[in-house]
Amino acid sequence: MTNTSISTIHTLARAYFDRLVHLRRDLHAYPELSGQEVRTALVLAGILAQLGLKVHVDRSSHGLWADLITDPGQPYVALRVDMDALPITEINSVSYRSTNPGVMHACGHDVHAAIGIGVASVLTRMQMSLPGNVRFIFQPEEEEITGAQRMLRAGALKNPTPAAIFGLHVAPLPAGQIGWTDNLFLAGFAHYLVTLTPQAGAHSTPPNLDPLVQHCCRAIQRLNQWTLPESWPEMAAFWSLMQAGPPALKRFIIYDATPNLEDPSAFYGQFGLGIKAATPNLQKAALGRVRAVLNPLCQHARYRIEPMGSMIDMRNHPELVRTNLTALEKALGAEQLIHLNAAFPFNCEDFAYYTKVVPGAMFWLGAANPQEGKYALLHTPDFDVDERCIETGTIAMATLIINTLSTITCGS
Ligand SMILES: [Zn+2]
Repeated sequence: MTNTSISTIHTLARAYFDRLVHLRRDLHAYPELSGQEVRTALVLAGILAQLGLKVHVDRSSHGLWADLITDPGQPYVALRVDMDALPITEINSVSYRSTNPGVMHACGHDVHAAIGIGVASVLTRMQMSLPGNVRFIFQPEEEEITGAQRMLRAGALKNPTPAAIFGLHVAPLPAGQIGWTDNLFLAGFAHYLVTLTPQAGAHSTPPNLDPLVQHCCRAIQRLNQWTLPESWPEMAAFWSLMQAGPPALKRFIIYDATPNLEDPSAFYGQFGLGIKAATPNLQKAALGRVRAVLNPLCQHARYRIEPMGSMIDMRNHPELVRTNLTALEKALGAEQLIHLNAAFPFNCEDFAYYTKVVPGAMFWLGAANPQEGKYALLHTPDFDVDERCIETGTIAMATLIINTLSTITCGS
């Protein structure tokens, strides 16, 4: 990766910055839930078409992808961004706050979509010197973890199949920083439904199982060694812990047992159980620990644990990450790259499904500015970012794409 390319990326990312902020604020003001990304897709497709890219709209969802083709005989590298919002009511009083009641971009997918457009704009301007082709994938329904699989079914990684795919997610790290790992990025999960039933003959009248359900849930929650940090200082401490990567954190299990208190009649004697674990073996062990907790509590009731769905873990391709570190350091400064030796254990990512098809890597994009009261704590009603992260994200992703294309075409 030449210094000239990096300096051109910087110049162009700066030149497009105001437009990208405007786009991010527009998407933020009109958030759409998973599966309803109609306006979002229309806006993004319009911009991509204006850039002169070949836009493919998936008719089975609101997803789309756009190809920047410089030479069809050369390899492709893909960038995936997501674009859906969450059922959260925004409490920020910013000028671009959500105008859609009860819906909010509280996970930064508006920022990701703007960065996708940023990278497409920058690389389109650089296409004469681009050593290959690029596919920009704008994915819907990430929050429901159905979008990636929909896009794969629609052919997003076909005709041709890209040599690699990159993604990013905003994070409660200071803006300007990029968090990377060449290992587990985010764990998958397994969901279960636990049903309690009275033991035959134990009671002459049906007992009220609600107190037992709540008791079981509290006991399972107490198995957690790690809890989601809720304040900026706690979060900063947790990122330091992820950098250090102590063995206990590398072997995390997160339990989530919740009775449905709002509608107890619909879930009589039942509760949901979610488990995220660092490895499949830990996932299995976790279920054993849940049974060990439930057995003594359920002496007068039977319980049944049924699998309800699962999600694979998101593991970065080690070589793909390693071959790009020098270029990223050149583009952003070595001090801005944060090496994480443990995964963030509390979230999942359906980007994982693309990485089962082609080598893939995801990066954390620092988006916080605590001095300005922007903490980028995901899925909170006062979520907001330092928008300078849009420039950092654009530079990082453009660098990764060009460097990967150069590496492939040079055969090194
Ligand atoms: Zn997200």
